[in-house]
Amino acid sequence: MKEEDATPEGEEKPKLSNGELSSGGSGDSSGFFSLSADELESYRLAGVISASRKKRSLKAILKVVAAIGLICALAFAVYLLWPSSVVRVPNLLGKNLSEAIEIARKASLEPQVSGWEYSQKQKKGEVISQKPPSGKSVRKGSRLKLTVSKGLKPLAGSEDVQGLDISAESTALQTAKGKTVCIDPGHGEGILGEEWIDPELRRMVFADEGARGISTGNPEYSIALDLSGKLLSLLDEEGVKVVLTRNSNDVKLNNIDRAEIANSVSANLSVHIHCSYSSDSRKNGITTYYPKRNEWTESFYEKSKLAALYIQSELVKSCKATDNGVFQRDDLACFNWSKVPTVQVEVGYLSNRGDDASLADDDFRWSLAWGLRSGITKFLSEQ
Ligand SMILES: [Zn+2]
Repeated sequence: MKEEDATPEGEEKPKLSNGELSSGGSGDSSGFFSLSADELESYRLAGVISASRKKRSLKAILKVVAAIGLICALAFAVYLLWPSSVVRVPNLLGKNLSEAIEIARKASLEPQVSGWEYSQKQKKGEVISQKPPSGKSVRKGSRLKLTVSKGLKPLAGSEDVQGLDISAESTALQTAKGKTVCIDPGHGEGILGEEWIDPELRRMVFADEGARGISTGNPEYSIALDLSGKLLSLLDEEGVKVVLTRNSNDVKLNNIDRAEIANSVSANLSVHIHCSYSSDSRKNGITTYYPKRNEWTESFYEKSKLAALYIQSELVKSCKATDNGVFQRDDLACFNWSKVPTVQVEVGYLSNRGDDASLADDDFRWSLAWGLRSGITKFLSEQ
């Protein structure tokens, strides 16, 4: 049925509906053969028009789909390649931290140390892992979190130091290279007795063995020595020459001796490391001292002040500790006998339970060492 209906329709239907044909011709089917080519063309059109329209609309749809697809692909390519929006994360694994920071910044990313871990394979200060991984496309200005090696595991387990912010770190670390820093871990075992606080021998003070942790009983001299060792290793990797005033706890050195060690090597900076102790157990946080301007400190007063400001700022940032600020002192022998820029950092209160516990923690001491390193290199790069 359907086939019979369809077949004649193509031939007969136009013949009936075409008004021109019936008026120009005799009305029967033989008139069809006497049509001119032009007339025949228009006649034919009516018969094939429906099939032809179907084909055209399918093609048009395909064209539109293809065009949309092409536009989408182009837009995606532009989005990926557009310089102001997306960057590819560089591979920082195994790189030295300062180098890694520089590379990340050049790639318009915001590097951040999210943790320190012991590593059998990677040297102290090298990047162990990064998040996001290299090769990934991320928006410009994205955070790039780095886990850094703190060398071989000694005895106890390790925990991450969270949120260590290094965003303000100077990229001019290179220029700290070759400079000399004298690091003085404060105190030592045993009482040393009295010493003159200035070269004109006006006043004497007592040089003691320092404070002890209120709950842990940890001696200040041990904390200072451990922290100094960590700081030495971090500065060493930046090419800074480090001179330690002592490398064990049973060395007898008064504060004049310590100042003279720094003088003898013409240190660019001398850093004395101590902890505070107060009768008020609520007091906590970090303080940095620099010499008060006087006849002995005049020549290095300004530089010492600058170093104190950099170190205090980096320490507080690195440890998220209470910022007690920087202060001048004229009652310290290690300042008045110095001939080179010098500061004394007080990295926490051993009379405060919270600070005492923090100072007993290896990761916290690494954060302190990192803050000290950043402040010191920032200062040295300007010398
Ligand atoms: Zn002290």
